[in-house]
Amino acid sequence: MNVNQVLAIINIVMAGMFGAVIGSFTNVCIYRIPEHRTIVKGHSMCMTCGHELGALDLVPIFSWLCLGGKCRYCKTPISSRYIKIESLTALMYILMACTHLSMFLDPVDPKANLFPFVVLCALFIMINIVIVEMMIMKDTGSSMFRLSTALLIDLAVQVLFRVLDVALTEKLGWGTPAVSTSASALAVDLLVEILIGAAIGLVAVVLAVLITNDPKRLSRYFKSDKTRAFRTSDLFAIVLCACIGVIPAIICAAVYLISRIAIGTGKNVKYLGIWLAAGAAVGYFGYAFFNMLVG
Ligand SMILES: [Zn+2]
Repeated sequence: MNVNQVLAIINIVMAGMFGAVIGSFTNVCIYRIPEHRTIVKGHSMCMTCGHELGALDLVPIFSWLCLGGKCRYCKTPISSRYIKIESLTALMYILMACTHLSMFLDPVDPKANLFPFVVLCALFIMINIVIVEMMIMKDTGSSMFRLSTALLIDLAVQVLFRVLDVALTEKLGWGTPAVSTSASALAVDLLVEILIGAAIGLVAVVLAVLITNDPKRLSRYFKSDKTRAFRTSDLFAIVLCACIGVIPAIICAAVYLISRIAIGTGKNVKYLGIWLAAGAAVGYFGYAFFNMLVG
């Protein structure tokens, strides 16, 4: 293993940890903003017993797993929303590190790498702000509205991503462009990729609902807002599939479908977020590994 490979692994791990911390802060925002409480000060506490949480209770992802999703003090189950958002944000940052490794590792001019890194971080923090907004309006917005908002945000982020990629590499001469094609071809490719990815995710969700729920309830699942239609993890599955490219999306959708069926329905879906993250990771890295073997 050479120095660059070690640096790459360190960068990926640190990106994941940073993402989990951002996810944790995202959770704080989701809970405190609707209650008009400050997000910068004050201790976090258990929603049920009011016990102030210590440092060990606040480690993103690990605390939730170590405590088995229960409060250390009163043993009340803690919402799986925490670990879902933390693990998904960690995954987003890991993907960012993987797809833009050259930015972190280019030894020629480290200063030149700082700007794209800052821009990407800002972009991802923006996505988290949007997640906060989406989760806050979760109880009021309709499923279709939430899904279309998420897909539009995804489209905007990906367009920004690629425009930045082209602008930074071509105009400023930083690194080699990941894409080199005309703007219109780029837009069409991107749109097709997102639509196909979203369709794959949607098929997986429909199949999962058909298999695990009473099929008669399917139409209600997509229409009704009062029965918490479009479970957040289903929504994320569709958006994730739209983000990662067609072939990784197929793998992600398959892992999601299998774990969704294995876990079943009802309240026993705490670990779905982890399976969803795992599906996206397996899809993305599996495909990258396959490409490496072939190419
Ligand atoms: Zn408690």
